[in-house]
Amino acid sequence: MNRQPVERALFDDVMVPNYAPGAVIPVRGEGSRVWDQQGREFVDLAGGIAVTSLGHAHPGLVSALTEQAGKLWHLSNVLTNEPALRLARTLCELTFAERVFFANSGAEANEAAFKLARRYAWEHYGPEKNEIIAFRNSFHGRTLFTVSVGGQPKYLEGFEPAPGGIHHADFNDLASVEALVSDKTCAIVVEPIQGEGGIMPGDPEFLKGLRALCSKHNALLVFDEVQSGVGRTGHLYAYQMYGVTPDVLSTAKSLGGGFPVGAMLTTAKIAASLGVGTHGSTYGGNPLACAVAQKVIDTVSQPDILKGVKARAERLREGMMAIGKRYGVFSEVRGHGLLLGCVLTEAWAGRAKDFLAAGIDEGVMVLVAGANVVRLAPSLIIPEHDIDEALLRFERAVAKVCS
Ligand code: PLP
Repeated sequence: MNRQPVERALFDDVMVPNYAPGAVIPVRGEGSRVWDQQGREFVDLAGGIAVTSLGHAHPGLVSALTEQAGKLWHLSNVLTNEPALRLARTLCELTFAERVFFANSGAEANEAAFKLARRYAWEHYGPEKNEIIAFRNSFHGRTLFTVSVGGQPKYLEGFEPAPGGIHHADFNDLASVEALVSDKTCAIVVEPIQGEGGIMPGDPEFLKGLRALCSKHNALLVFDEVQSGVGRTGHLYAYQMYGVTPDVLSTAKSLGGGFPVGAMLTTAKIAASLGVGTHGSTYGGNPLACAVAQKVIDTVSQPDILKGVKARAERLREGMMAIGKRYGVFSEVRGHGLLLGCVLTEAWAGRAKDFLAAGIDEGVMVLVAGANVVRLAPSLIIPEHDIDEALLRFERAVAKVCS
């Protein structure tokens, strides 16, 4: 086996340059702490990017994975398997859904959702009903269809021609949707809380208005809960917090706690439009992924875990607001539960990356969401003393940036 040492510099020699990773290479994690090659320790407020919902090396997830690893890794979708069936049943019991399609990522769950919306409209109303309304600043993944539906043109640049029939309205502006919607609309696609776009929560009235417009025009309301789902808001899914039920929902990230898995949830009537042979995935519904996701969902859906998210969120939000005030760096801390965005003041506009880099130097991992927002998406069970330690370290990072 090739055991030569590997360092960050090797990245530039052997990897496609589409990422620009930092200098440290983490090698081990436990709970909300991570250690790098040199043994330096970090508190993790990033959680991947809202992925490691139960922290690193959670004993329940390790045993779910290793137990399944000793039994059965993979079957094609020519046969079904027990972990996939169990997980689908659980997701149906806990949500509006009656049917589940499994994928391996958020983009793939969305790809399935968008294809389903087109196919359902085609089948029930004819080929003219194919338009999708999505939102500026939204993010739905990196496949060609999902970057086209996403509302950040920079991600599409150079990859055109894009699929047609996609229109973008302004988030939280119902009038801008009313100006675009018609009986040709097959779906309105929205993140109830825009994640990559800067942790921007949807207004309840806006999301209710989208529901009404979809019902009026026989269009499907698609909620992309890839980032907001699986307990992150203190509710299993954000739609349950808002009291607005979509027709289709995509979920991934936290669902696998770090193991790649995604799912699209919908009703039986809508699901019927993806009949045998219309769509598929080699790995979707993989027994390993589903066994891990089952453990994640069983754990996260416990009322005490969801309640704990709210308590931790308060602690973290208050701590960040206090730092923001002391140094004049944040104008607000927005978001729900453990999906928080610390918005930089005018004076620090565009400098979010500097705070991320200084955080690494001080032993705390945070994220950015665009150039003006420091984003936090830690484990849903991060110990309170880790939050306190992370705040101390982050304050030192802020002090450095401000000095
Ligand atoms: N949708 C949302 C709301 C996301 O935040 C992301 C990832 O950041 C995606 C979709 C894409 O998920 P993935 O990277 O797993 O394909």
